[in-house]
Amino acid sequence: MRIGVLALQGAFIEHIHKLQALGIDTFEIRQPADLQTTCDGLIIPGGESTVIGKLLVELQLLTPLKNAIQAGLPVLGTCAGLILLAKTISNATQPGINTMDIVTTRNGYGRQLGSFNTVATFAGEKIPMVFIRAPYIQKVGPQVEVLGQVEGRIIAARQANMLATAFHPELTDDPKVYQYFITMINQQNQRRVV
Ligand code: GLN
Repeated sequence: MRIGVLALQGAFIEHIHKLQALGIDTFEIRQPADLQTTCDGLIIPGGESTVIGKLLVELQLLTPLKNAIQAGLPVLGTCAGLILLAKTISNATQPGINTMDIVTTRNGYGRQLGSFNTVATFAGEKIPMVFIRAPYIQKVGPQVEVLGQVEGRIIAARQANMLATAFHPELTDDPKVYQYFITMINQQNQRRVV
């Protein structure tokens, strides 16, 4: 299995280290040529979604990545990555991939109090979660499965090949989000073979 990590800005190296610890082959995506190899999944990291969005446009990565996701490439977006995947941002206008039927609120917990750690349920299991100026999901479309909530706000969701978390799984020692994503990829690969 080989997973590409968008490496334009933000916490991409931490994702790469987590994947490598799980024995997954990784590569960094920085330019369109990086997409010309086989790839089973994609991670869009946390960071600053306005910066990543602008770079995606400038480097001509936005359209090929959007096309690949729409064609079924499994993708995990964390924090800024969630914002980039969302079809709608309730409080900002900025370039994004816009494939996932969710409405998100950027800096949803306020700028000062926006960073906190907690333990909450993700896909039925309690895990530690790190939030850094995090968004939350305000609303989901009918195809979207809610995978986690903190204080009544949705912080993890899945729609078909797209998985999004408002927290940073790359900043804790718990591998469950990655394991969930790897299972998604394996199911997708099985479907491709059938
Ligand atoms: N607040 C950031 C944004 O809007 C996201 C923060 C993060 O990824 N840790 O892009």
